[in-house]
Amino acid sequence: MTTQIQRGKVITVDRSKRKIRAGQGLFQGMVVIWRHWTQSFRKLENMSQTAGTFTVEYPDEQLKLPEAYRNMPVLLYDDETGHELCTSCFQCERICPPQVIHMTQTKDPNTGKAVPAVAEFIIEYDACMSCGFCAEVCPFDAIKMDHEFELSTANHPALTVHKEGLNRPISYYASIAPEMWAAVKDSAYKKLQGNIKRRSGLIGIAPQMVERLKAKQAAPAKAAAPSAAKPAAPAAKPAAPATAAGKNMSEDKAARLAAIRAANAAKTGGAAPVESAPDAQPAAPAAKPAAPVAAGKNMSEDKAARLAAIRAANVAKTGGAAPVESAPAASAQSDGDGSVVATLAEDNGDGIAGAPKNTRMSEEQQAKLHAIREANRAKREQG
Ligand code: SF4
Ligand code: SF4
Repeated sequence: MTTQIQRGKVITVDRSKRKIRAGQGLFQGMVVIWRHWTQSFRKLENMSQTAGTFTVEYPDEQLKLPEAYRNMPVLLYDDETGHELCTSCFQCERICPPQVIHMTQTKDPNTGKAVPAVAEFIIEYDACMSCGFCAEVCPFDAIKMDHEFELSTANHPALTVHKEGLNRPISYYASIAPEMWAAVKDSAYKKLQGNIKRRSGLIGIAPQMVERLKAKQAAPAKAAAPSAAKPAAPAAKPAAPATAAGKNMSEDKAARLAAIRAANAAKTGGAAPVESAPDAQPAAPAAKPAAPVAAGKNMSEDKAARLAAIRAANVAKTGGAAPVESAPAASAQSDGDGSVVATLAEDNGDGIAGAPKNTRMSEEQQAKLHAIREANRAKREQG
């Protein structure tokens, strides 16, 4: 211990309390050397635990790299949807000191407008200096520094890496830098969801995921095909009056078919087919009075009679009054997720408030249709 006593301009150093014995410094140095030597026999898992001097038998033995280790930049895409996080904002291209990042922005083929997705992204790895500026500046966490460092090759052009070679799934980055990814994960996904809304179709999908996603989309479409075909069947039924009522036909359908046959018979003056369902007979007379009300100005007699027969059958079924105005024919179409939405064939998109209620539609389906129409109407008004 050294004590300093100031007396005027003179500084006296009192070393009397510190007794250095001969060889003490040499001994302390030997202690340090001994400590490092013994620690070099410890098996280290992480570089941050390094204390002693030791040899790693690379490449058979490799130490785990710290999360913040950086070598070359890579681009991230979502594992599930294949959507690339990059929005082609050009910030990384601008900041790159050696200017080794090159990219082009995607344009929507339908509208010609730029969308937040990257069409081509190239990094010249041979000139990249691993500064990590690109990863730091990226506002979408789309570009991250990879840990892969075994990149030596005799193929120089291969070091100009395109999007296919740069793309990595988010799960890969989360495995090499779990804490760093966890820190930005929520905001990255939130921004990705926002950007996906401004893309359409397969725009902004990682090239290696395109085929897989197409196959994925085709599978549910196949599965949905039979269910989509079913609702179309009722529309085809009235076109088959010559066939006999099937054993499995519901009473409602049988009555309807019988009414159509009766109307046809009345029109042609012939007798109703023998196969008509017994309960169809009472419905037939009701068809005629309804015909004059229903017939449009341009409607042929044949069509008017047919329409009247259908209405009469409906009246017989529900026990209510026949509608005064004719309703547009309904059709069915798949809404893309396998379920079927019935729509009005002559819908002019002006909303469903004044449109006849389609009884084949559930309330949920009607609400969905209403929402779609409202969205379309808002789009048209904006346009
Ligand atoms: S790490 Fe640095 S040099 Fe390499 S691409 Fe990114 S900004 Fe450019
Ligand atoms: S990687 Fe990031 S900074 Fe570079 S263009 Fe894409 S979104 Fe912008």
